[in-house]
Amino acid sequence: MPRRKLVAGNWKMHGTGADLAEITAIAGGADQFAMVDVALCLPATLIERAARQVAGFAIGGQDVHQSPKGAHTGCVSAAMLLDAGATLTIVGHSERREAQRESNADVKAKAEAALAAGLTVILCVGESLDVREAGGAVAFVSGQLDSSLPHGLASDAAGPQTLAVAYEPIWAIGTGKIPTSADIDEMHRALRGRLANAYGEAGDRIPILYGGSVKASNAAEIFAVPDVDGALVGGASLKAADFLPIVEAAGSTS
Ligand code: PEP
Repeated sequence: MPRRKLVAGNWKMHGTGADLAEITAIAGGADQFAMVDVALCLPATLIERAARQVAGFAIGGQDVHQSPKGAHTGCVSAAMLLDAGATLTIVGHSERREAQRESNADVKAKAEAALAAGLTVILCVGESLDVREAGGAVAFVSGQLDSSLPHGLASDAAGPQTLAVAYEPIWAIGTGKIPTSADIDEMHRALRGRLANAYGEAGDRIPILYGGSVKASNAAEIFAVPDVDGALVGGASLKAADFLPIVEAAGSTS
């Protein structure tokens, strides 16, 4: 089935109030591509100011805690993200799975907490270079997705407004390397199958994004892969001049 493309930027630990003008430029530019859903996942400190400044444009967090409140120093709950004006959040980014040792069970709990609060979730999965080179990427990432997917996703709610999956090979993030189109295709088909297995027909409405060194120069090639429904973009999302051509490429293949 045709799915709307979603292009989300992940600003990681970049951005202060001085960057609000860039966020405004991105939101204004994205308006020209009504056929593409565009979002920016910002540092927690910028969410409220950005959401006020670009009302109507999707602003998200980069992580959420699974508990509604409590003694979790430095963490942010789903209700706090919503309160700040976020409408979505990333969960399970490989940089958190590695550095914060987040397990599939943690990621699943975070996704469930965010969805229950009414946030859209971008759930990340991806293999290391060792796993890719050993030939185990599809099996590894499929297993990771199976164990991270939220339970209780209402079948009539599954879709771009609730859950998206991002396939992000760890070795492609920030390195300038990307998998071949054939490898992306193989992985996205496998993940599409896992979503069908988990959610039946509703799984077909869930966008599967590709992430890892997406740039203006390779976006069209990546979006031409049939089961790629958009992108999660790190470095190239920080500047409107780099990000908007990626959004435009998504619009051209919608
Ligand atoms: C990311 O961190 O999610 C990412 C895809 O980064 P980059 O685009 O810089 O590789």
